[in-house]
Amino acid sequence: MSGPRPVRAPRGTELSALGWQQEAALRMLQNNLDPEVAEHPDKLVVYGGTGKAARDWRSYDAMVRTLRTLKQDETMLVQSGRPVGVMQTHEWAPRVLIANSNLVGDWANWEEFRRLEALGLTMYGQMTAGSWIYIGTQGILQGTYETFSAVAAKKFGGTLAGTITLTAGLGGMGGAQPLAVTMNDGVAICIDVDPRAIERRIEHRYLDVRADSLEHALQLAVEARDARRPLSIGLLGNAAELLPRMLAEGAPIDIVTDQTSAHDPLAYLPVGVEFDDMAAYAAKDPAGFTTRARESMARHVEAMVGFMDAGAEVFDYGNSIRGEAQLAGYERAFAFPGFVPAYIRPLFSEGKGPFRWAALSGEASDIHKTDKAILDLFPENESLHRWIKLAGERVHFQGLPARICWLGYGERDKAGERFNDMVASGELAAPLAIGRDHLDCGSVASPYRETEAMLDGSDAIADWPLLNAMVNVASGASWVSIHHGGGVGMGRSIHAGQVSVADGTRLAGEKIRRVLTNDPGMGVIRHVDAGYDIAETVADERGVRVPMREG
Ligand code: NAD
Repeated sequence: MSGPRPVRAPRGTELSALGWQQEAALRMLQNNLDPEVAEHPDKLVVYGGTGKAARDWRSYDAMVRTLRTLKQDETMLVQSGRPVGVMQTHEWAPRVLIANSNLVGDWANWEEFRRLEALGLTMYGQMTAGSWIYIGTQGILQGTYETFSAVAAKKFGGTLAGTITLTAGLGGMGGAQPLAVTMNDGVAICIDVDPRAIERRIEHRYLDVRADSLEHALQLAVEARDARRPLSIGLLGNAAELLPRMLAEGAPIDIVTDQTSAHDPLAYLPVGVEFDDMAAYAAKDPAGFTTRARESMARHVEAMVGFMDAGAEVFDYGNSIRGEAQLAGYERAFAFPGFVPAYIRPLFSEGKGPFRWAALSGEASDIHKTDKAILDLFPENESLHRWIKLAGERVHFQGLPARICWLGYGERDKAGERFNDMVASGELAAPLAIGRDHLDCGSVASPYRETEAMLDGSDAIADWPLLNAMVNVASGASWVSIHHGGGVGMGRSIHAGQVSVADGTRLAGEKIRRVLTNDPGMGVIRHVDAGYDIAETVADERGVRVPMREG
């Protein structure tokens, strides 16, 4: 079998691999391709434009076959979505090591990447697509919720009630925006060119309604805003056309951002091109398509700057749209900030980031029990409690049930060890895969996003994610990945991920304690090195050793 077919991870406790560490990798690979989870599973595309879980179906089959026979002292090596070797290692070593989409600096651009991809030599791994820890739109929901809460705190007295947010992109990640805004009690107008993206978000209850026209969308938005009633509205159309129109008409917008797939110009629909013709046009004339997409992004960003000038809170949501608009010659592209320096950096300085876990049993009750454990472990953290409660009520599980919450240094290891104990005692029906996004405090170098405007100017230093991957390998993670180009595109980021399996054994407990201490510890030392006071305080208070501060 080597063609497209529906894939779904097995549930329950029966193993098809030789141990839970391998079984977990197998199930999470398959879960990434579950039609409930992946955006385009037939093409092995999980999310984020063309972020894939495997290079091609033959490689997928080979990975499944290999994981099923992989021993406890063996490691499978994956090079851009293809298994290229199995080596004898030892039981503390990861069962899988993954390197995706990495290119040498001078060659690190989309053109060269596409050439190599067409030759079948590489694939785009995004962040959690090629590293098998994507958990559907919920994964980004919590981060988006945190970001909009921070916007509310900064500018609107702690709530988005009575405000209208305008954004575009209702894909795998961008689809979290409407729910994140309504969870903060605001109104959102969300534009997308793909009617299926709008329908899908409505089906999953991330989006409330679809408007028939721009006028209809504005009418609904203003009514809800005036009643201080949360509402999210889907609007079909091209953002590069609609934003300038809304600006010109003086639409009453308070907050503007964007999550179209701008990081990949071949995934952004240029003005004047029909959505149905997009794929064929992009394949036939990638250079021409790119030029037109960038020109449209310039118009889109120009309108965002216009809203900013008119007093709205405007930020880039990590899709590189400012960089693309600048390439098209728009000079004020960087007039508004990225969301990390604007809202997230203080959290990163404490080692906080998107911690997540998936129930390999397939049972929702396992997640509900872990939710309760998190609430018990951190009784004093109010926003965490609010999130876990709202997530329990509003989040539709996609694929294997999973949960995400942001935890910091000294918290993640506590949660991980508790989870492992719950597996050991039989309280949970099966083991958990515990991982995180590559968008984390010490795991990424990405000057347009996570490391934009670092205090010491070290935005483009990529030693940190490489050290992060190495320390996770040395600490006993179950699989570790190093990727290039995730989030913001080729040439713009290098990042690392880890997943650790809580299988209830003592060995897993030992590994989890180290990995979940050292992994967020990278965030603390990275921010100490860059001169952030919060990170220095955390290091001092929680005992993170930083040699340059000793002696
Ligand atoms: P996706 O490919 O699943 O969805 C993108 C959506 O944009 C699609 O539904 C598409 O129809 C729509 N679109 C394309 N051109 C458009 C246009 N001109 N007007 C209106 N809609 C248009 O991608 P995704 O996974 O949702 O990610 C979106 C972007 O956000 C990516 O660039 C990703 O890297 C970035 N991202 C940022 C963060 C973050 O920093 N918080 C996290 C995840 C993703």
